[in-house]
Amino acid sequence: MESTLKEMRDGASVLDMDPKSAVGGGVEDIYGEDCATEDRLITPWSVTVSSGYVLLRDPHYNKGLAFSEKERDSHYLRGLLPPSIFSQGLQEKKLMYNLRQYQVPLQQYTFLMELQERNEKLFYKVLIDNVEELLPIVYTPTVGEACQKYGSIFKRPRGLYISLKEKGKVLEVLKNWPEKRIQVIVVTDGERILGLGDLGCQGMGIPVGKLALYTALGGLRPSSCLPITIDVGTNTETLLKDEFYIGLRQKRATGQEYADLLHEFMSAVKQNYGEKVLVQFEDFANHNAFELLAKYGTTHLVFNDDIQGTASVVLAGLIAAFRLLGGKLAEQTFLFLGAGEAGTGIAELIALEISKQTKAPLEETRKKIWLVDSKGLIVGSRKDSLQHFKKPWAHDHEPIKDLLGAVKSIKPTVLIGTSGVGKTFTKEVIEAMASFNEKPIIFALSNPTSQSECTAEEAYKWTKGRAFFASGSPFDPVEYEGKVFVPGQGNNAFIFPGFGLGLVMSGAIRVHDEMLLAASEALANQVTQEDFEKGMIYPSFRKIRKISADIAANVAAKAYELGLATQLPKPENLVKYAESCMYSPLYRTYR
Ligand code: NAD
Repeated sequence: MESTLKEMRDGASVLDMDPKSAVGGGVEDIYGEDCATEDRLITPWSVTVSSGYVLLRDPHYNKGLAFSEKERDSHYLRGLLPPSIFSQGLQEKKLMYNLRQYQVPLQQYTFLMELQERNEKLFYKVLIDNVEELLPIVYTPTVGEACQKYGSIFKRPRGLYISLKEKGKVLEVLKNWPEKRIQVIVVTDGERILGLGDLGCQGMGIPVGKLALYTALGGLRPSSCLPITIDVGTNTETLLKDEFYIGLRQKRATGQEYADLLHEFMSAVKQNYGEKVLVQFEDFANHNAFELLAKYGTTHLVFNDDIQGTASVVLAGLIAAFRLLGGKLAEQTFLFLGAGEAGTGIAELIALEISKQTKAPLEETRKKIWLVDSKGLIVGSRKDSLQHFKKPWAHDHEPIKDLLGAVKSIKPTVLIGTSGVGKTFTKEVIEAMASFNEKPIIFALSNPTSQSECTAEEAYKWTKGRAFFASGSPFDPVEYEGKVFVPGQGNNAFIFPGFGLGLVMSGAIRVHDEMLLAASEALANQVTQEDFEKGMIYPSFRKIRKISADIAANVAAKAYELGLATQLPKPENLVKYAESCMYSPLYRTYR
């Protein structure tokens, strides 16, 4: 039995939980004159052995009906469980059966979260074995709804909350977390949760969900993962007025106040966990996202999935597509609709890959890439008024206000939608793409499905079955004129878990863009001939643990090559080493 003796601090005393019968009237004296209230000032510490009743309530070690006869004897479990003994496989079958009884995704979400709180190994076994079915529940789109209702659906808090109230005490807050060996932190400030806007403190569902995927898909140990929400307020009026809202009731702090709290947090993280802890920024609004990445990229191990993870997964799809179609990345012309975190992140990584392949300077390779934002094509004459992350894309061209005009003028071979605005790849836009491309490549990445720039069916129909299509949200296969087309899904979950594992296993101390390219290559290499025959430019998600191990190995190899790895000596076979590092959800036998 691992760590049978542990100290518990649960903050509640027995006295708190057992009020005497209510006598008298009114709310104040509803508990009567119970003398127990006199000594409420107690220190809530207790020392307990994790066996018997306590063991059944410890999610790290609980196995429920899977405890063997011997374990039931040696760990004081006799009578606390019914006599049947289930294998983990049978427990999983039962859980999946029960889960499928729920018709509402949010109910499935809470069912899974409760399982995670009850029996961690079983939660991960269920998630790993049924990943394609459960990913939309544990993560987007259902997690978005969970965040909107976070205040009311959660019975137990998960993760760490750092609000403006903790200013000056952030290091102490980190020390309150029970696990000391943290390897990955996913942090949000809740300002731009998926496509749902500012959800303030309720954004916590995102770090919790992403870290569940880090463990299930990338094999990071659950105890090494720490979800954090930084609460600086929210500008969403409905939340500020909601009596069940769990966060600070104030407008968002900005400027120096915001920067100071973030800086204190980043310094405390390094002080508490050292140089090698990965901090993944998640769902920050784009003015902060770019700034934080640039500011801490040189001093900490930081990664932004919205910018860098998206870029890496899209680049992988493009590499795979051109492997299938023939032709080189450098020969293409790219047009983006949407110039935010996703759009400019992808654009920059494509330019970097072309620069690496052709040895041309980055300034040159960027010229093959055009972006349209809400004000039209980004061109030189707009340069002075552009946000800094858009400036590199302001090429010489006459101003064009609309996407169709830009498509007709630029004649891109690849069209990528990252504006968050649905139905913007109209019939005219797609037909224009098909008029000058034999095989137009169309990525409609905006989420959720309702915001997708076009559907898979529209892309195939309007190009008469000639498009290569990938999306952010999943689409079912489409039959067009007797042929079945399988749309690709450029899901970030292909990349970030393996990417993080690669950083952790090599002890990397900084993220370098070349590591993102290495991750894209590894993912593209996983696309088989069989996938290509179905028109797929991403591999099947069912192989995700294998894919993650390969990505991790490639990323780690790059970390060693760049001199950024500290885990020495370098393992001989990095793929095998990655696989050996991965968390197993199988039960262990207790002595
Ligand atoms: P963002 O807010 O940073 O960027 C959106 C950009 O679109 C901004 O530049 C904005 O000016 C522009 N825009 C808004 N309305 C427009 C319009 N009508 N016409 C042209 N441009 C317009 O958001 P983001 O993080 O870049 O995400 C954008 C979309 O991409 C979201 O829907 C998100 O869900 C999706 N996304 C998909 C993936 C994926 O598929 N793997 C990954 C990340 C983001």
